[in-house]
Amino acid sequence: NQQILLKTRPVGEPKESDFALVENPIPEPGEGEVLNRTIYLSLDPYMRGRMSDRESYVAPVELASVMVGGTVSQVIKSNHPQFSTGDFVLGYDGWQAYAVSKGETLRKLDPNQAPISYALGITGMPGMTAYFALLDVGQPKAGETVVVSAASGAVGSIVGQIAKIKGCRAVGVAGSDAKCDYAVKELGFDACINRKTQELSSALKDACPNGIDIYFDNTAGAILEAVLQQINLGARIPLVGLISQYNAENPPPGPNLMPLLIKRALIKGFLVLDYQHRQTEFLNDVSQWLREGKLKYKEDIVEGLENASHAFIGLLQGKNFGKLIVKVNND
Ligand code: NDP
Repeated sequence: NQQILLKTRPVGEPKESDFALVENPIPEPGEGEVLNRTIYLSLDPYMRGRMSDRESYVAPVELASVMVGGTVSQVIKSNHPQFSTGDFVLGYDGWQAYAVSKGETLRKLDPNQAPISYALGITGMPGMTAYFALLDVGQPKAGETVVVSAASGAVGSIVGQIAKIKGCRAVGVAGSDAKCDYAVKELGFDACINRKTQELSSALKDACPNGIDIYFDNTAGAILEAVLQQINLGARIPLVGLISQYNAENPPPGPNLMPLLIKRALIKGFLVLDYQHRQTEFLNDVSQWLREGKLKYKEDIVEGLENASHAFIGLLQGKNFGKLIVKVNND
């Protein structure tokens, strides 16, 4: 059984010497198990994370073990009532030619319905990523502009096409002219920007004359930075991937958004002026809490208007202690 093991944890870009190709006996399936012959192995960006032992949402691959990965296989021996020899199955057998799997972990595939390899892409994990992150988090509405990075890839290509189905303007960002041509001419994107040859900010401005309502982020980094300059009121940003930093030894300068993705945390812009119509609700609660002594309040009162500028400068230096106000005249 040909297998690829993780030999060393890559530093920066993975190297072939980080992996070892080994030959082992083909295993025998036990009770409730099947023996699969791998036909297709999926390679996905998340695997870079599994090669590191940094904290993440799943445990890393142990050194000297078979690399993990989604697979489409044919069952060649079965000790499970629901699978017969010859069945095609979607599983998670990893980087190896044969594997024993528990029947419960497999999904049977119908080769007459679609090419079996699609289960690793458009009808599998990447397709589901595109579908749910766009529709559930992005909430696209007809007429809105959707920008997606890695636009010709497994996830991005589906995002742009679903955006079009929902009546949106779809704008891709991709890494070559060939990828961009494909996105526009074959997939029906309205525009696509080559991130390697075009200046991102001006190209986005041209491609998104009405601004950006949804940014489906597969990359973070420079593309996110440029997109944010043109984001619209009430825009949504599904943070789906940060591939621009997967090989980075240290997080890039500025806030690192990776924990937001891992923890499915929410950052949302806020302006109090949106809440003026709920002022009564606010006043009722806060006045009551004050009366009941549940809220405490501290004021830092500066005497005399002539001291206002000095006090304001101090505010930005942290010299105030409590809510800074100026007593201008005696009451
Ligand atoms: P793709 O098929 O899109 O392949 C990866 C692409 O990423 C490359 O072809 C390249 O496209 C782009 N890329 C690589 N390096 C950089 C960089 N430094 N800056 C910008 N772009 C870069 O892969 P997938 O569709 O499988 O995955 C896309 C993203 O979605 C990944 O970030 C992945 O981790 C994420 N993902 C997240 C999931 C989730 O549950 N959160 C599930 C599945 C995927 P180009 O040359 O066009 O720029």
